[in-house]
Amino acid sequence: PEPAGPLPIRRLQESVINRIAAGEIIHRPSAALKELIENSLDAGSTSIKITVKDGGVKLLQIQDNGCGIRKADLPILAERFTTSKISSFSDLSKLTTYGFRGEALASMSFVANLSVTTKTKADTCAWRAHYADGHLVPAKEGFTADPKPCAGNDGTTITVENLFYNTPTRLGALRGASEEYARILDVVQKYAVHNPHVAFSCKKAGSATPDLSTPSGSDTKQAIRLIYGQTIAKELLHSDITSSEDSESTSRMDVDEESPSWSAEAYFTSANYQAKKTVLLLFINHRLVESARIKKALEAIYNGVLPKGSSPFMYLSLQIDPESIDVNVHPTKREVRFLNEDAIIERICNKLQETLVNQSQSRVYEYQT
Ligand code: ADP
Ligand code: MG
Repeated sequence: PEPAGPLPIRRLQESVINRIAAGEIIHRPSAALKELIENSLDAGSTSIKITVKDGGVKLLQIQDNGCGIRKADLPILAERFTTSKISSFSDLSKLTTYGFRGEALASMSFVANLSVTTKTKADTCAWRAHYADGHLVPAKEGFTADPKPCAGNDGTTITVENLFYNTPTRLGALRGASEEYARILDVVQKYAVHNPHVAFSCKKAGSATPDLSTPSGSDTKQAIRLIYGQTIAKELLHSDITSSEDSESTSRMDVDEESPSWSAEAYFTSANYQAKKTVLLLFINHRLVESARIKKALEAIYNGVLPKGSSPFMYLSLQIDPESIDVNVHPTKREVRFLNEDAIIERICNKLQETLVNQSQSRVYEYQT
C-alpha cells in the first residue's frame, strides 16, 4: 500500500494546554505547597498553618496572617500572569528569582478545586471565592460566582482540593499518600528553618497534634534544633561569607570590579556528626532550590573529614544579584544556574572547609591536653 501522508496539524484545546502547563509547574502536592508558602511569606505572614489530607491530593490548606488580598483583586487572582509583585519591564530581573510570574494560583485552578478566604486590615469582613480554569466560579449550583462576605481573621486561607482530578496522568505519577506527605513535611521543615521568625505548623486533617510546630521569633539554630534534633544542633558550625572579603583567595580568578556582590550564610555539622544521607537545605534569594552541583561540591568538603559512607547536615542560604540568575532556566526546572557559579561555590566551599578543619584540629588539641 501507498505510504500514508502526514496527518493534519491541529491546535490543542486551550483547556488542555493550560492543564499541561499547570501540571509542569505544580507537579505534585509538595510543589503546590512550596508556592503557597512563598506567597504567604511574601505577604509578610508571621504564622503559617498547613493542613493536609491524603498526601495533599484530597486537601492542601494553608492559613496565614499576612496582608490579605484586596476584594477588588479577587476576580483576576487566579488568571495567568496576574501578580502584585512585578509591574514593569524594569522589574523583570525579579522574575528570574522564581515565583514572581503570577502562575502559581492560576496553575492550581487548572488542575484542582481552588478556594480563597481573605481579609485585609482595612476590610470589615473576610471574602470567600472559588476558582476553576483561571476564573471565579460559583461555590455550588444556584450560587453566583461573586466573592461572598464571611467571618474571618486578617490574612489569607487558600484551599486546594482534589488535585489532578482532571489530569489522570499526573495523579497516576504520584506516590502513596504517606510519601507525598513526607515530601510536604520536608518542604515545611526547610522553610521553617529558613524563616525562624515565622511560626509554622503542619498537620494531617483530623489529627489533633501537628507533625511540625515551630514558635515565632526563634533563631536559625533553635529552629534547626527543634526540627532536625539536638544531635545535629549540638554539632553545628556557622559561617558568613561575602563576595568582598579577602581578595587573596579570589585573586586567581580575575575578579572584575563590576562583578555583582553576593553573600552566603551556612550552618553545617562538624566531623563529629555522621549521617547516612546528606541533608541539604539550599536557599537562593529566599527560594528553596536544588542544585546537584552545589550539593556535590559541599559534600566533597567532608571527604577528608568524615569516614567513607557518612554524610553531613548543611543549610546554605545564598543571596545573589537576581539579574545573575539564569533566565533560561524555567522555574519548573528545579535545578538552578547563575553567573559566576563556580567561583562563588568555590569561595563558599573554601570557607566551610577552613572552618571545619580548624574545628576538628582544635578538638584533637583539646583531647591531647
Ligand atoms: P506570584 O506569587 O508570582 O505573584 P501567584 O499566582 O503565586 O503569583 O499569586 C498571585 C498574586 O496573588 C500574588 O502576586 C499576590 O498578590 C496574591 N497572593 C497570593 N497568595 C497570597 C497570600 N497568601 N497573601 C496575600 N496575597 C497573596
Ligand atoms: Mg507566588
